[in-house]
Amino acid sequence: MVDLAIRGARVLSPANGIDMVTDVSIIGTRIHHVGPLAQGQTAREEIDGKGYILSPGFIDFHVHGFAYFTDYGTYPDDVGVHSGVTTVVDQGSAGYLTFPAFHEFMVKHSATRVLSYLNIGAVGTIKGSMLPALHGPKTVDVGAVVDTIAKYPHIIKGIKTHAEMGGVARWGFRVLEKAKEAAKQAGVPCYVHTGRLIPCEGFSLPDADSIVPQALEYLEPGDILTHCFTGHPGGIVKITGEVHHTVRQAMADGLLLDVGYGEHFSFDIARKVLDQGIMPYLVSSDVHALFNKPHSLQATYGLFSALSHLLALGIPLNDLIAMVTDHPAKILGLDEELGRIEAGYQADLILFGLESGSFLFQDRFGVSVPASLRLEPKLTIRHGTPYSTQIKEESEV
Ligand SMILES: [Zn+2]
Repeated sequence: MVDLAIRGARVLSPANGIDMVTDVSIIGTRIHHVGPLAQGQTAREEIDGKGYILSPGFIDFHVHGFAYFTDYGTYPDDVGVHSGVTTVVDQGSAGYLTFPAFHEFMVKHSATRVLSYLNIGAVGTIKGSMLPALHGPKTVDVGAVVDTIAKYPHIIKGIKTHAEMGGVARWGFRVLEKAKEAAKQAGVPCYVHTGRLIPCEGFSLPDADSIVPQALEYLEPGDILTHCFTGHPGGIVKITGEVHHTVRQAMADGLLLDVGYGEHFSFDIARKVLDQGIMPYLVSSDVHALFNKPHSLQATYGLFSALSHLLALGIPLNDLIAMVTDHPAKILGLDEELGRIEAGYQADLILFGLESGSFLFQDRFGVSVPASLRLEPKLTIRHGTPYSTQIKEESEV
């Protein structure tokens, strides 16, 4: 007798090369067997997966999941298990002074697995980009950051920092330098925001095309640049539309790119980058609640919108699934537990549909792309327990 069996879904697990219609059974919190349920084998609960795809649990590497602390924060479960995601990584909502509250109120009270990249600043992002003083070098205490990471190694997996025009105009690269110093001491990677963010009124702006090449001088293999398809200046693409050659070199050495979808994603830039043969390693949503409505707890997009938009640009489905399962599991050092459908792995799974229709996807810059397919979450299974999904949908035309 197994606890749960998902029958007849297309089981898609790129990390171990599975793409076939079959059954998956679960005992307790672990995957028990991948393959047809044996004759006479029964399950306490059965889920009919016919017509759906069953994938390893999605890992969203960039969310803002500190509700009522960050004014655009969400509850992790709203952008996690209830949005077709089993693991979320909060990117920098908490700093070392505020991490204990994040751990107590968000990590411990979520069905979703909640991990963190600790903000290099002391308090994190109470009001995000609106209070630059919270993001300057004076708020950084390298020793305290390293101590906090050492205290919560199972939750804190890296350091969130920025390399963007507003910060560089104010402080040069001093914050990034300290972030790398802390990351090296703690033995974790840095996750680096690119594209304009912090306001820079009253400061003389640096050349947008100088930011990423200079930032790369501090970064190492395994570090992650996010918003690789940003429509804002100062990203991996020069004003001329060409990807910085220093980015290509760094990628060859092991630098990783993340989509960090959200407010930054531009179809035009994504096309330019993909046309130049550059592929992201991760797809994350950068999901947050509304900026102009503090504590609204409403998110209008998520990881599924990001994946549907990238599918519309021609990235194959199997590659996209690897970017939200196996790849993030590897970066988190959890690839022997998560990221594939295999006996013994944790029973974190997503059942989703590939829905046909006539869709029009829009980015935040007003560019629309027509599409005939979209991904639609059906059910989240986290640690062997099913959760219903309730994500908002893209408009159909
Ligand atoms: Zn973000």
